[in-house]
Amino acid sequence: MKKIENYISGNITPCKSKNYLPVEDPSTGEIISEVSLSDINDFNLLIESSLKAFDIWSNLTPLKRSRIISKYKEYIEKDLENLSKLVSSEHGKTLDDAKGSVTRGLEVVEFACGIPHLLKGEFSQNVGTDIDSWSIRQPLGVTAGITPFNFPAMVPMWMYPISIACGNSFILKPSEKDPSCSIRLAELFSEAGLPEGVFNVLNGDKTAVDMLLSDNRIQSISFVGSTPVAKYIYETAAKNGKRVQALGGAKNHLIVMPDANIDQAVDGIMGAAYGSAGERCMAVSVAVAVGDIADKLVENISNKAESLIVAPWTDSSSQMGPVISKEHKDKIESYISSGVEEGAKLVLDGRNFKIQGYENGYFVGPTLFDNVKKDMKIYKEEIFGPVLSVIRAKNYDEALNLVNNHAFGNGTSIYTSDGEVSRHFTTNCKVGMVGVNVPIPVPMAFHSFGGWKQSLFGDHSMHGTEGVKFYTKLKTVTSRWPKSIQKGPEFKMPTN
Ligand code: NAD
Repeated sequence: MKKIENYISGNITPCKSKNYLPVEDPSTGEIISEVSLSDINDFNLLIESSLKAFDIWSNLTPLKRSRIISKYKEYIEKDLENLSKLVSSEHGKTLDDAKGSVTRGLEVVEFACGIPHLLKGEFSQNVGTDIDSWSIRQPLGVTAGITPFNFPAMVPMWMYPISIACGNSFILKPSEKDPSCSIRLAELFSEAGLPEGVFNVLNGDKTAVDMLLSDNRIQSISFVGSTPVAKYIYETAAKNGKRVQALGGAKNHLIVMPDANIDQAVDGIMGAAYGSAGERCMAVSVAVAVGDIADKLVENISNKAESLIVAPWTDSSSQMGPVISKEHKDKIESYISSGVEEGAKLVLDGRNFKIQGYENGYFVGPTLFDNVKKDMKIYKEEIFGPVLSVIRAKNYDEALNLVNNHAFGNGTSIYTSDGEVSRHFTTNCKVGMVGVNVPIPVPMAFHSFGGWKQSLFGDHSMHGTEGVKFYTKLKTVTSRWPKSIQKGPEFKMPTN
């Protein structure tokens, strides 16, 4: 059985714990490899390497760091097909979708190449007589990231390129469900010239996470995953004196106004609700149909969803693959049953979905509910599967209230042809990432990614300039040269 080990000091390093967890192909349910479950001995080896690397790496000029990152960008581009296949084979998403996600990660690497410019400080001459002041941003030290299964390349790439560009060393703890891609990304960075130990990968489960959260040699924790774990990470890491950004779950609403272009809205909803089997933190899981557009909207979504091609990633016609595990498939199906029990109208039922030749795969068919109410479990909780709930609202105000009163605040969109409504929505919705006639408003690398409310714990979003701020400490210097000092001691606050 193929083993996926840790990556320490530029080498694949067999784990000392000798404990492994099976990794499955979600299309077939077969075990395809085993991933190491690191223990304290693995962690000790890795942290020593990260600390040593920080001393060397942080002393390299930003320009030299940037040149290695530029090379890394080329190496990823050349390996894009292979990286995407690693994503699809363990996650199950279509190959095109996997390529798109690696490319979105690559854009952060591209952004990080500009680090000499991004680290430029501020300078003020004569803050007092003959006194100058400037601010600089310095790296934190050893930083760490813990990532979810749904974007095994892109989400780690929201973190480590920026952290490393800022001069830190970085420890990645990938999801144990699809860890292969992280190892390849680390290898490519070494091949591009990154000194050993700057980017280490620690495989494992909660035990590995807890070692990262409690060790005082680690300065910051970046996390992306479900809300209960995000909250735990935020509280534990903050209690241990670390800087934390912890991104959680979502329940993204897409509002369709009566004046929307309905074909555009339906196409947008289809990709956003069922793409990647709904396992995206920016997936649309609630369509809010405003006024008399509802019947037509439900009918059109249902017609399209019925003919959606559900197949394994190895089939190039596939539009939607399986969900990640048997456990997750069962959970999604139990949400569908609860929606029926609570009285929502099940228009399309994806339970017990079978594909010939892949009967043991974790497929769930596209599922559509109409007449969902706000007190139902399928509306309140994140399902993270191909299940779309349509909720009907009388008017725009009612739709906006739904968005604003929901516990999550990751992404939202509005489809309308009225600029005034759109402007009101973008100004007044309580959500971090907002789209207008755009179904999945994921910010580009040079903006920053992050939600509000239960979707983000901490002060900083990821990547973009927020990422640079998160991975650096601000230092402000106030300086006067001796010749200009003419007065004796002063005991009052200086005012000029
Ligand atoms: P998860 O929370 O189960 O796991 C995420 C990471 O945390 C993994 O590396 C896992 O090993 C670790 N982990 C799991 N349980 C833990 C525990 N009890 N203590 C410590 N560590 C633990 O999430 P997942 O199922 O891998 O990913 C899906 C979730 O991630 C969804 O809720 C989705 O919305 C969310 N997500 C959010 C964003 C965002 O940007 N807000 C992006 C992608 C995914």
